[in-house]
Amino acid sequence: MQGAYPRLSDAQIAALTGQGDRRGTEPGEILFGEGERDCDFYVVLAGHVASVEGHGTHEERIIGVHGRGRFLGELSLLTGEGSFYTAMALDRGEVLAVSVARLREMIARDPAFGDLVLRAYLLRRSILIGLGVGLRVVGSRYSPDTRRVRDFAARNRIPVRWLDLETDPAAEAMLAQLGVTPGDTPIVIVYGRMFRNPGNAELAAAIGLPAPSAQQAGCDMLVVGAGPAGLSAAVYAASEGMQVTALDSVATGGQAGTSSRIENYLGFPSGISGAELADRAVLQAEKFGARFAVPAEATAIAQDSGYYRVRLADGTSLTSTSVVIATGARYRRLDVPRLDYFEKTSVYYAASQAEALMCHSDPVAIVGGGNSAGQAAIFLSAHATRIALILREHDLSEHMSRYLVDQVKRLPNVQVMVDSEVRELRGDQALEAITVVGSRTGARRVLPARSLFVFIGAVPCTDWLGGLVDLDDHGFVRTGAGALAAASGPDGTEPLPLETNRPGVFAVGDVRSGSAKRVAAAVGEGAMAIRLAFERARPA
Ligand SMILES: Cc1cc2nc3c(=O)[nH]c(=O)nc-3n(C[C@H](O)[C@H](O)[C@H](O)COP(=O)(O)OP(=O)(O)OC[C@H]3O[C@@H](n4cnc5c(N)ncnc54)[C@H](O)[C@@H]3O)c2cc1C
Repeated sequence: MQGAYPRLSDAQIAALTGQGDRRGTEPGEILFGEGERDCDFYVVLAGHVASVEGHGTHEERIIGVHGRGRFLGELSLLTGEGSFYTAMALDRGEVLAVSVARLREMIARDPAFGDLVLRAYLLRRSILIGLGVGLRVVGSRYSPDTRRVRDFAARNRIPVRWLDLETDPAAEAMLAQLGVTPGDTPIVIVYGRMFRNPGNAELAAAIGLPAPSAQQAGCDMLVVGAGPAGLSAAVYAASEGMQVTALDSVATGGQAGTSSRIENYLGFPSGISGAELADRAVLQAEKFGARFAVPAEATAIAQDSGYYRVRLADGTSLTSTSVVIATGARYRRLDVPRLDYFEKTSVYYAASQAEALMCHSDPVAIVGGGNSAGQAAIFLSAHATRIALILREHDLSEHMSRYLVDQVKRLPNVQVMVDSEVRELRGDQALEAITVVGSRTGARRVLPARSLFVFIGAVPCTDWLGGLVDLDDHGFVRTGAGALAAASGPDGTEPLPLETNRPGVFAVGDVRSGSAKRVAAAVGEGAMAIRLAFERARPA
């Protein structure tokens, strides 16, 4: 909560006063409503304003009351999503209303003020996620589409309240009230509008996530993948004056966005959550003029008379003189029977706040011996009752950094099982238990587990490249000297570092052959690729 609801000083209010309008409020007056976009930035000067969830419905609940010096809103004010709650004046008072455009100018001009607002907004988003103030999802824990919708919201850091048809009496009541049957679920309520089993693109449009638009059809720099590497490329390219479009098939943040706490990223001695890092980077890139499209999956790339044309899953295409491939990697799946079946409900490849809410008070199992498994164990230990950390290695420190090993060993509810493999997933509709076999002893044990978290290495997301660029034997993109052998520039151009065998096409981050698989390395490569893209473009 620290920093989520600061009060502006008189000096800060005085500085803002010249940028906006002061106006009186009446009790019950709505300053902005649920779903409203581009609302003003309000500072309370006198009286009180309440943040109200479900205003005017039988579920109405006050989630906060703000008095003099407090400012209203949360992250959606800056990201363009609709507001997740209503702001209502409680008494006769006064507010200062500043347009979002003016607010952005103030944030850019006054770093201390900018940081205060940004920090508060990021924390408020996190509080909303914890409270479940936002979208309503009614669906069964056994439904793959319910899981898909919840995952999509989680990756995009959209707050959701889930009403489980199997256990929550409020779910039945809600369906009756909406006049729909369990067969219509999952039902998603977005800003009061009902959607029956919406696709991710439909959901994104309803929430107000940035969709691909006609304006983005041509640009100087197309960044495919918006994890740390792609976000960094977008920030640096836009800050150098390039017209940049960055797209991502799921959400900004990539793998890092699924990490609860990154402790080894330079400049954040107490760590930073991947979600916060991603949100900050998106705002920074947008400040310089970068445009985002989410969800937008690249399905093919081709060279087309001096341009590269990237086709998207929705059938549209984008063209660009330079392309940064930053599609990273996705987690490898466990080789165990019935994984497909349980993946729809009980298997996770991320451990963020959203997953923690899903497995609250359950026994869980984590598979993997690397840093992401260690981080997941530390984070989930505060939520799950018991955790089995299962790894093939003989020693926890074989692939895990020392700082994580020490923390994991101190956790009373984490049982570390070395030399072990998961062989069986047990349960009817959802996971109930797993069978673990000791690789040295052959001993079999059945452990209760409602959720299984898998962190066992990654495979590159390069299917969409369709042979345009050279890949190594494991499917990662070759760059620089590594791509030299396959160089095919029109005049036999030698690839620059981070450049593929296609001039002007760069690969950065985890997708690149030989990359360090670290956030800092991905960010560094994203920045460097832009510098090299200028170098490549210079002779032309
Ligand atoms: C749980 C976890 C914890 C971690 N903790 C740390 C840590 O503490 N410190 C550290 O240094 N590193 C950590 N890492 C590793 C780090 O997150 C990665 O090295 C880093 O995210 C790589 O960044 P990237 O941008 O190259 O790729 P990614 O993060 O993988 O991002 C790639 C993006 O591309 C998108 N994409 C893929 N295919 C397509 C397509 N066809 N079209 C459009 N978009 C596409 C994906 O949706 C994704 O958003 C962790 C990883 C995980 C999973």
